Amino acid sequence: MRKKNITHNKIHSSATRSREENLFYSLCDDSFSHISANSLKETLMSSGLQPDDYRLKELFHELNNHDQLSIQMFTKIIQKSELFVEKALRGELAIPDFKDFSTRVDQIYDDVKSKINGELASYIPPLAEVDPDQFGIAIITKDGQVYKKGQADVDFSIQSMCKPFNYCIAIEQLGIEEVHRHVGQEPSGRFFDDLSLLKQEKDAGIDDNSSNVPFNPMINAGAIMTAGLIKDQLRDNERLNFVREQFGKLIGWKQDGSSNIDLPRFNKEMARQENFKGYNNLALGYLLMATGNLPHKKSICPDDIYPEKPDEFEFYIENAVIKALKLYFSICSIEMKATDVAMAAATLANGGVCPVTQERVLSQETVRKCLPVIQMCGMYNGSGKFFQEIGLPAKSGVGGGVFLVVPQLMGICIFSPRLDPHGNSVRGIAMAQKLTSKYLLHLFDGLMTSTERLDPRVPISRWRASSCSESIWASSIGDIRTLQRLLSEQRDLEAGDYDGRTPLHLAAAEGHTEIVKFLLDNDVKPRPDRWGGYPIADAIVGKHQDIINLLKEIKTGLSLPVHITHKDDQKVDNSVKIEDELSVIELLWAASENNIRGIRQLVARGVPVHASDYDDRTALHLAAAEGHIETVKYLITHGHPLHVRDRWNATPLDEARREKRSKVSAYLSSVHKKSN
Ligand code: GLN
Repeated sequence: MRKKNITHNKIHSSATRSREENLFYSLCDDSFSHISANSLKETLMSSGLQPDDYRLKELFHELNNHDQLSIQMFTKIIQKSELFVEKALRGELAIPDFKDFSTRVDQIYDDVKSKINGELASYIPPLAEVDPDQFGIAIITKDGQVYKKGQADVDFSIQSMCKPFNYCIAIEQLGIEEVHRHVGQEPSGRFFDDLSLLKQEKDAGIDDNSSNVPFNPMINAGAIMTAGLIKDQLRDNERLNFVREQFGKLIGWKQDGSSNIDLPRFNKEMARQENFKGYNNLALGYLLMATGNLPHKKSICPDDIYPEKPDEFEFYIENAVIKALKLYFSICSIEMKATDVAMAAATLANGGVCPVTQERVLSQETVRKCLPVIQMCGMYNGSGKFFQEIGLPAKSGVGGGVFLVVPQLMGICIFSPRLDPHGNSVRGIAMAQKLTSKYLLHLFDGLMTSTERLDPRVPISRWRASSCSESIWASSIGDIRTLQRLLSEQRDLEAGDYDGRTPLHLAAAEGHTEIVKFLLDNDVKPRPDRWGGYPIADAIVGKHQDIINLLKEIKTGLSLPVHITHKDDQKVDNSVKIEDELSVIELLWAASENNIRGIRQLVARGVPVHASDYDDRTALHLAAAEGHIETVKYLITHGHPLHVRDRWNATPLDEARREKRSKVSAYLSSVHKKSN
């Protein structure tokens, strides 16, 4: 174990800090000798991790025994914890800005709540009698971050949401080829309970008898078929228990009880009612028998039907049909909470490994085979439109649940029992629509360069930085190829940064005539920056006559920028230039928005607080100009020098004064005095 005395100086230099020291330092508020155990806990909670997370048990136990942690204690704790703790502090979990994400989803939930159209499933009393107003949502990321709202912890009937999981279980047990000898993988374009089958081509190596198979495992015919395949040698209750345990593993259940997650409940009354009213499903069962592809053992006639008085002939009821239907009805009658289903969906999103127990429940291959079928067929005969619009594999059930899988990111489950005519939850669909119009989640969103929709996979400041920084840096160094590429990607080359500085400003300031020409030829309009300066003002200061001439030709306002610097103060402190340009812009965006959590994450990643951009602006300039006193204090305590100078020679204090930020000005002046 490393043992070092960390001095104040040492900890101020990000270049020499170790990983653990960076993490510790990012959490410090005023003292560098200790951090509070609570602030570590709170940081983990605010990144979406749950206090009852199975993986955090030991860590929280340890933290409960301490108020304060020294760097040595902290290092020991971090080294013992799993990597995701470190990732949480550095903002590297699946959704780095979980707080921001949660606030936006809260908003969507509130909007969707007003939707009260749709009808409850009415074919059986236990579904017809549920409270129609219930509405819950849970989102769980592949790293186990949890968002939930409303009735997310209410058990409800999973109904058809079980179908993808049954399909996975059958694939794991029998292999994909064997499963598809019995059921297809084609969209049916029909209602979920339709009685038609798919005619398989004979040359596909399938024997004559089994040429009529259900279209896919997501509609009733296919799901009954799939149920018929699962552990068909076992007794009925053993089969159901087997399935419940597999579902349990998907949602984080552990046999030894250590994860505090229970096995999903089985609602016997629901299953009885499904059986009473399920004539259509019975018909499907016999249809599958008639086509000869429901596996069965020859002639097991239930001899307990009329044991005492044999009739003219012994009426034969095929046991395989009964067993398949019994298991199908039973699994549909399993109850889960939205949080459980979201976890199961997150397990799919995570390639078959449960995010919290870290156990592999399904093989990657199984998940990869299953997701396309969910995507094509999961929303019944509305699947095509749903996929075109939402672009995610999703499965619904008449119990009012719908889950969505965002591969490698998260699982989502919405529960609200009013259904549309397809049998899909009305609010479930509305939630999915709104989520995908706010966030880049559609599987083909990689093709889009959207500046309106957010990418939940990147911190909000980085997302803002990435929308403008590349074009501005490229302009500032005369890199025309990058600008050409950005143009063909339909990037907005007029977009400005936190100071309203645009590519045209930087090209003008640095004297890159070719870039200015290129931008103007492509209709990029000059815009004013924070100080009211147009690009021409930059060209004038830099005495770039060619550029002045070019810019003069187009009509723009020519207000002169107002930069104010304090004449008596001549001291200069150095800022630093770092290679990772995007992180610099991210830091400055975070500072301009008072996003201390974001700044902490950058500090935890080793980004120096006084890194500067193409205009020599630093985080302190931005925090001061915007009047964010908390950020100013954090930066100063973390060693940000006072007399850093931007392109126009202004210090952060000059900026605070110019923008009349009295609190910040007073604070910076007092620090200034003390340091003299
Ligand atoms: N138990 C229901 C049935 O088979 C499930 C249907 C559904 O959720 N779409 O009819």
